[in-house]
Amino acid sequence: MVCAKPGAFEGGICDPCKAKIRGEALEQQHQVKKDADRSLRKEGTDTGKKPGG
Ligand SMILES: [Zn+2]
Repeated sequence: MVCAKPGAFEGGICDPCKAKIRGEALEQQHQVKKDADRSLRKEGTDTGKKPGG
């Protein structure tokens, strides 16, 4: 329970808490996306060399 007033709001959570959760969720998504992007970039740099020279 995130909200300090369980049952006081629909779903057991008020707007402020909802926004907070949504914000955190977004941050997490960003973090994951960045992590994946970095991983991809890291691998990409390995194949930066041109074949055959
Ligand atoms: Zn709340």
